[in-house]
Amino acid sequence: MIRKMMNRKVVFKMVVLFIVLTLLTNQIMPYNNKHIFPDSIAAEATKALSYFPELDNVAITFKFKTHIKKSTMQAQPKFGSFFRGRSKRSYVVLINKNIKIASKEFKTDAIPKDVMIGWLGHELGHIIDYQHKSNLELLWFGITYLMSENHIKEAERAADTYAVSHGMADYILKTKNFILNHAEIDNSYKLRIKKYYLSPEEIMAMVEQRTSAN
Ligand SMILES: [Zn+2]
Repeated sequence: MIRKMMNRKVVFKMVVLFIVLTLLTNQIMPYNNKHIFPDSIAAEATKALSYFPELDNVAITFKFKTHIKKSTMQAQPKFGSFFRGRSKRSYVVLINKNIKIASKEFKTDAIPKDVMIGWLGHELGHIIDYQHKSNLELLWFGITYLMSENHIKEAERAADTYAVSHGMADYILKTKNFILNHAEIDNSYKLRIKKYYLSPEEIMAMVEQRTSAN
């Protein structure tokens, strides 16, 4: 009898512990456990991810890095997961710790929230693009991206297009305008943005087309 009581107590304690742990985990990771991001951009990452329900079950880690060549953020498949096949692929989005746009440096928390959401949305657009590719196509994509400007343009415009078609046009526009209208940002970076990415006018045209189609 006493042993039975003890067992019940243990079971009860385990159940309480389980519930507490579950609640705690949900607090730490408000979206789901497939997505990992630093606390400082949790709100922005969660918001951007909410536009991409098809990525709910895709493992994505957002993390800060001190130096990324040439870019502010970079989405890429995790190397180890690459050989596991498309459905089990996982991704990492690297974010420059101090978002450096050409010679002008911004602390990540000095960037307006909506601009950050747009930026993350663009990266998630890249992941959608990768999800549509087989391993071989992805490998080929990686090689050609490095070799030709046309491929960079194709990839960046695809990422923008996916973000816009997922309803993020306003955020993408804010990110673009933030760069294009910031006097301190180098002209060379602005030219790069104009050369490879969708223009604000193209985005507006896409939105109009979408609304008239609905
Ligand atoms: Zn990009």
